[in-house]
Amino acid sequence: MTRIGVLALQGDVREHLHALTAAGVEAQPVRRAGEIAEVDGLVLPGGESTTIVKLARLFDLIEPLRERIDEGLPVFGSCAGMILLADRVDAGGSPLEATFGGIDMTVRRNAFGRQVDSFEEDLEIDGVAGTPVRAVFIRAPWVQEVGPRATAIGRVSGGEHAGRIVAVRQGDRLATSFHPELTGDGRVHAYFCDMVRLATR
Ligand code: GLN
Repeated sequence: MTRIGVLALQGDVREHLHALTAAGVEAQPVRRAGEIAEVDGLVLPGGESTTIVKLARLFDLIEPLRERIDEGLPVFGSCAGMILLADRVDAGGSPLEATFGGIDMTVRRNAFGRQVDSFEEDLEIDGVAGTPVRAVFIRAPWVQEVGPRATAIGRVSGGEHAGRIVAVRQGDRLATSFHPELTGDGRVHAYFCDMVRLATR
């Protein structure tokens, strides 16, 4: 069976494990370099990107993760996970030491600002069957700029932030500003699981 890991250093790990299991794959928490080698795909959860990076450094996971992503391990990052997958981060003053990288984009942390720290909306995502999906944003980043290797597949549809890019794909790498693991709507996880199955076939 396809096995997908969730980086389990900090954040909403359990919710992702649950959503992956519901999508019909074997889901397992990943904390060690040896475990990264065992999975067919990896989810980087929502949480606090600075904390995840710090812990990844402490556990000597930064290089192994970068290498595996570089070798083609399919990855999906939600919210903080999106920040970790960005090749470039605009941290708005508070520096982020390093990310894992992998997606040719510039991500701005906490971009939606204080007034709208958290909001929800229905979002169309290219390639995800049955969209719109309900998207929950919590102190979310947005994608400031997408480079030529990546493709914007979802944008905010209305309000003052209309048009902001919030979902990106680059080959077998996927990132969303929002948290599909929190809504019980399994379509984004199903989409990622299909990516992983195709990549490992
Ligand atoms: N604001 C967080 C960060 O910068 C992300 C928030 C989230 O994952 N819900 O890492």
